[in-house]
Amino acid sequence: MKRISIIGSTGSIGRQAIEVCRRYPERFQIVALAANTGGTLFEEQIEQNRPEFAALRTERNINVPKGTRFSCGEKAFEEACSYENADIVLIAVTGFAGLKAALLALSAGKDIALANKESLVVGGHLVMPLAERKGLRILPVDSEHSAIWQCLNFDRKAPFRKILLTASGGALRDVPMEKLGQVTAKDALAHPNWRMGPKITIDCATMLNKGFEVMEAMHLYGAALSQIEVLVHRESIVHSMVEFADGAVLAQMAMPSMELPIQLALTYPERLDCGLPSVDFFKAGSLHFEKVDEKRYPCFVLALQCAEKGGTYPCILNAAGEVAVSAFLNGQIKYTQIADIIEDVLAAEIGGSAESYGALEETDRRARACARLKIG
Ligand code: MG
Repeated sequence: MKRISIIGSTGSIGRQAIEVCRRYPERFQIVALAANTGGTLFEEQIEQNRPEFAALRTERNINVPKGTRFSCGEKAFEEACSYENADIVLIAVTGFAGLKAALLALSAGKDIALANKESLVVGGHLVMPLAERKGLRILPVDSEHSAIWQCLNFDRKAPFRKILLTASGGALRDVPMEKLGQVTAKDALAHPNWRMGPKITIDCATMLNKGFEVMEAMHLYGAALSQIEVLVHRESIVHSMVEFADGAVLAQMAMPSMELPIQLALTYPERLDCGLPSVDFFKAGSLHFEKVDEKRYPCFVLALQCAEKGGTYPCILNAAGEVAVSAFLNGQIKYTQIADIIEDVLAAEIGGSAESYGALEETDRRARACARLKIG
């Protein structure tokens, strides 16, 4: 029986992770649930899963059944991240917040199933050595990184020549360039292949997400930037590929669903049914791969520049992205301004080295303030 603490239980990944646990109740026990603001969904999750501990990051009181201890505020969130009775912590919160969760879980000696890529983008240089030092596992939940892990036979340190990271191109891939300034949040949220939370769906449309995933792969698999190639693959059937020294390429394919990578991170090395239909290759007919159009995806280009520069640049990029995307979702800025704001913040903020969590927190705070100023 694996005891799991789920951080970010009411988000898209958190909800699907609970589904996975309910599918195999003889294997999994949810011992802790944590969410940001709660609501009826969170109360239902507690009622149905009866965790030992439930935490809300914001101060708010809720009713919990007997047997569940409830606490709220930052300390409560921290306790869920490092929950004593958990064997593994699933980190499924969005954005910069994931870094703190990852560092706390690892510091407490817990393996982590990592759905939050920002923790590696911003603080991979802190997270990876900590896991290494403590001999803990980082199990990738991001579908591309799960695919790479599978191609490497579950050995993150296995040698390879190249990583071929696939991208769908997002919801706006066929919108004429000159019309991108007029697209609404609803348009950008209509992802053709994947069902995900709002922030990441917008990041897919801009391909900022793919830039983040390049950095995530660099940290997880010790890859140089030059070893990673991004391919736009409209069908989202190949979830990524790895090329080896002899020229052999292995691909992981499946119908697009997050339940497979979530479940595999929890059941690995075992593979169990996750309710996914077979890939129908006759129906798919052919699979397509294209180069990234850099004019269409300026956020992707900015992300690669930050990957190259390192230090606090990825942190500035992420903070500016979080503020810009939320402004777009609230109707404050146009879609095309997301890239403009990120670019302006990167130009205004001088990156440096990022030796500690505190330094990153300070950089994040400053970059956010700068982005808000640009938005006005
Ligand atoms: Mg992904």
